[in-house]
Amino acid sequence: MILKPKGTYDVWGNDAIKLERINRLIEYFCEFYNYDYIRTPIFEAKDLFHRSVGDETDIVQKETYDFKDRSDRELTLRPEGTAGVVRSFIENKMYGESLPKKLFYNGTMYRYERPGNGRNREFTQFGVEILGSNDPAIDAEIISMPYRLFEELGIKDLNVKINNLGSKEDRENYKKALVEYLKPHLDDLCEDCKRRFEVNPLRILDCKVDADSDILKNVPSILDYQSAESTARFKKVIEYLDYLDIDYEIDDKIVRGLDYYDYTVFEIVSENEALGGAATIAAGGRYNDLVEKLGGPSTPCMGFASGLERVMLAMEDVEKNPLEVYIMYVNEEEKLKAITLAQDLRISGVSCDYDTTGRSLKSQFKEADRNNARELVILNSEDLKLGLITVKDNITKEETKVDENEIIDYLVSR
Ligand code: ATP
Ligand code: MG
Repeated sequence: MILKPKGTYDVWGNDAIKLERINRLIEYFCEFYNYDYIRTPIFEAKDLFHRSVGDETDIVQKETYDFKDRSDRELTLRPEGTAGVVRSFIENKMYGESLPKKLFYNGTMYRYERPGNGRNREFTQFGVEILGSNDPAIDAEIISMPYRLFEELGIKDLNVKINNLGSKEDRENYKKALVEYLKPHLDDLCEDCKRRFEVNPLRILDCKVDADSDILKNVPSILDYQSAESTARFKKVIEYLDYLDIDYEIDDKIVRGLDYYDYTVFEIVSENEALGGAATIAAGGRYNDLVEKLGGPSTPCMGFASGLERVMLAMEDVEKNPLEVYIMYVNEEEKLKAITLAQDLRISGVSCDYDTTGRSLKSQFKEADRNNARELVILNSEDLKLGLITVKDNITKEETKVDENEIIDYLVSR
């Protein structure tokens, strides 16, 4: 027997019901927040991720699935969604259209990681990107939208953490202070951080090994190295979040695992035990320089991505939607009526089903109950001769005979 590859999983049963609920809510939210759907390839040129996500990030250093195709092209399975969306924005000249572009995606990502607790090698991210606006109201929307969505899914114990990374100059100033501070402690940092110190010291704040050490706890705060402009911008974001009634905590250690972020960055954390304590279920930030870096015109952007496997773990179990109608029959004449009626009900927006395994009438009743059917349509030849159909309300157990020509309208209105 061949088993699934390590770090992948099948979605079925309860998980499938949860995932469907999530996907429906995503579509509903994106419609009302005015985001358009975008789908980009699952593999892209390897260089795209090196240039956008950053050579020194964990993702590019240790986690990408890189491969060569039969013509020796260097390709990578996408580890995240933003790089592909930005590439598409530039390649399709979307910057020439009315801005901002508000886009959402929902698809599989690939990272070679150690699996467990909402961490997989193939996983699903839902994400949103707003390209072409630097308005702090966008920052507030990008933070509040997933927060409200998670609330709607019934996820409790949500925690928003935000930070301000400022402009490139602000970060350069901070980097100098950080290097100055870390230099005497270098020997006590992990091997990865020693390397990060040379190439990208800011990444050290994102280290999972050294996170709890006193050295990292006492680093200078990036918030003390912001220009007046950047600080004022961040204040505006906070003000809008207050107006939107979103609770947040300012956390000056958040830099996020990707290099392209500037100004506002944030995480939404769920404390749910199924996730092994606290886990980030959505994260994002501004990336005002990335479009230009990838060859497009200067375009301020902001986005977030949410790992749906973690959202599923943070959610309570949900019940499958009850079936609206279950149709019952015994003989072939009744069966013909059952299959045509089922088709007509389905295209009229009524969910329904009927038996296809030769069950007795008695076990058809049981099957209807297993599906939580609201209405039972009980076909019998005697009724059909008179042009009538028996409908039984499966909750009140009340029976009604309905004119065959009015059965669809009757059931649609129930
Ligand atoms: P972490 O710190 O947990 O490794 P990250 O910084 O790598 O997260 P991002 O790259 O910002 O995460 O991705 C955004 C979201 O995608 C995460 O908050 C998480 O919900 C989800 N995610 C990231 N990696 C995985 C994975 N391997 N399996 C499942 N979900 C993931
Ligand atoms: Mg990671």
